[in-house]
Amino acid sequence: KEEVNIISGALDLRKKTVNDVMTKLEDVFMLPINSILDFETMSDIVKSVGSGAHQDHRLNVRLLAGYSRIPVYEGNRSNIVTVLFTKDLAFVDPDDNTALRTLCKYYQNPCNFVFEDVTLDVMLKQFKEGHKGHMAFVQRIKREGDSDPVYETIGLVTLEDVIEEMIQAEIVDE
Ligand code: ADP
Repeated sequence: KEEVNIISGALDLRKKTVNDVMTKLEDVFMLPINSILDFETMSDIVKSVGSGAHQDHRLNVRLLAGYSRIPVYEGNRSNIVTVLFTKDLAFVDPDDNTALRTLCKYYQNPCNFVFEDVTLDVMLKQFKEGHKGHMAFVQRIKREGDSDPVYETIGLVTLEDVIEEMIQAEIVDE
């Protein structure tokens, strides 16, 4: 019985897309690249909770520990240029007022992009093979008339979102 549920959860991954499980861009905790890593910014990062529905079931753990990865954008929130790992802040002294741009240039963490219609089984496979970490930014293609397509970032998806979908399917099917 249990095996059947797990298999059914795994099979359901083929029916759902990253768009179905992603955290929407407006709910993503991110930082502009021109931020200064002063005391205020650093405590915002450590306390980052976000406002998305995803947080509701995460109990109070979120209140103690912020996100482990923070997207960094330049200008517009949909223009994500890199990711800050909060562990990279370990040697940053808030009194130094370090520019986030300097830290980002040093680490140069790559971003992983994925189209919104990618199914969760494909996403899971990609995360497993992943050399770019277990987070991807979800993109949509915007076509206007005959002009070249424009890519728009609409959210982020992590390995946890995919696994959660698998486990939920298993519980609901009970
Ligand atoms: P973490 O490692 O920070 O705990 P997870 O990969 O476990 O993050 O993801 C937990 C949930 O939080 C997922 O639903 C994911 O989409 C969301 N998430 C991850 N990073 C952020 C962020 N910077 N802002 C908003 N939501 C995020």
